[in-house]
Amino acid sequence: MTTCSALIVAAGRGSRFGGPLPKQYALLGNRPVLRHTLDAYRSTPEITSLLVVIAGSDENHYHNAVEGLGLPPPVLGGVSRQQSVLNGLEALTGEAPDFVAIHDAARPFVKPVDIAACLAAVRADGVDGAVLGVRLADTIKRTDADGTVNETVPRTNLWRAQTPQVFRYSALLTAHREAAGLGAAESTALTDDAAVAERAGLKVVMVEGSEDNRKITTAEDLARGITMESRTALGFDVHGFGPGNAVMLGGIAIPHNHTLSGHSDADVALHALTDAVLGTIGAGDIGKHFPPSDPQWRGVSSDRFLRHAVDLLAARGGRIVHLDLTLVCEAPRIGPHRDAMVASIARIAGIDPSRVSVKATTTEGLGFTGRREGIAAQAVATVETPRR
Ligand code: MG
Repeated sequence: MTTCSALIVAAGRGSRFGGPLPKQYALLGNRPVLRHTLDAYRSTPEITSLLVVIAGSDENHYHNAVEGLGLPPPVLGGVSRQQSVLNGLEALTGEAPDFVAIHDAARPFVKPVDIAACLAAVRADGVDGAVLGVRLADTIKRTDADGTVNETVPRTNLWRAQTPQVFRYSALLTAHREAAGLGAAESTALTDDAAVAERAGLKVVMVEGSEDNRKITTAEDLARGITMESRTALGFDVHGFGPGNAVMLGGIAIPHNHTLSGHSDADVALHALTDAVLGTIGAGDIGKHFPPSDPQWRGVSSDRFLRHAVDLLAARGGRIVHLDLTLVCEAPRIGPHRDAMVASIARIAGIDPSRVSVKATTTEGLGFTGRREGIAAQAVATVETPRR
């Protein structure tokens, strides 16, 4: 059996990305970009080992991203991408794989089938390297420095090169060692590993991939990269009246000739909303997160329950699209407090008030709400979460 190591290059600083983290460690959905890339390689049976090249200052980010994968220690990169790749190739000399697949960490959408296609291409007789890419579809112009067009370049046989770029390992190592001795001008022209291989006279072929395998360069690329799906879930709650002079509904106190009794401050509206939000991510119900038997929740403001559910959703990369609440009671009258309730729920959930709806109805004197024994609440939460 032949061996193929994947060398994932994650040492870049990504100056166009901005943001608090280098792009390869930023979250794409619920996982770091690097983790998506590694998962694609881990799902490719032809890949026999994985090694990542990182910047020394990123060690903590790296360890968070690869937690649980059991990878070998990362290799530290150099001052240029070329030097980083060479460091990675040198680190593989003990293992000496038959093939090496070089991949940019910031291309997380790569498909295992395309990795395998490159490896199949490089196995052909006389081929030393195979590069995934797409044929140019746009018309290409060459201009003077002032922008005046002086040539329309025939686009036949022109490609945009991506990664993976898969090579016979020993041939690429030799080519990179040779290129390491070049002067700055010659070296900067070698913008990918295929260029290093071509310079050494190796035969490199293109393998047709797709536009899906795009590189994350800006924060917008990251946002675009996530396929969201919408989810809807229901919450329902009831609390009975007890002696008192106000009820908590939607985080505000509404004067009444009773209060609501039960768990926490018995805010039946926030409880139903909390269960609805928890439902969208299959995270159980409010009683699971805040057991009524636990004395620490006695009398506590229900703000924190809804906030907790919203935080759980956010931790999965999700966000609330809309919250719809229906209160069922004969009294107190909800209408005069509707706007304040909408504003309060929006504030707690961290969304615009236009995304909150509060409605009320009676049960025409029927049942426990009709007998003024308590208040029922139904809530529907609509959210967007990253598709898994
Ligand atoms: Mg409740």
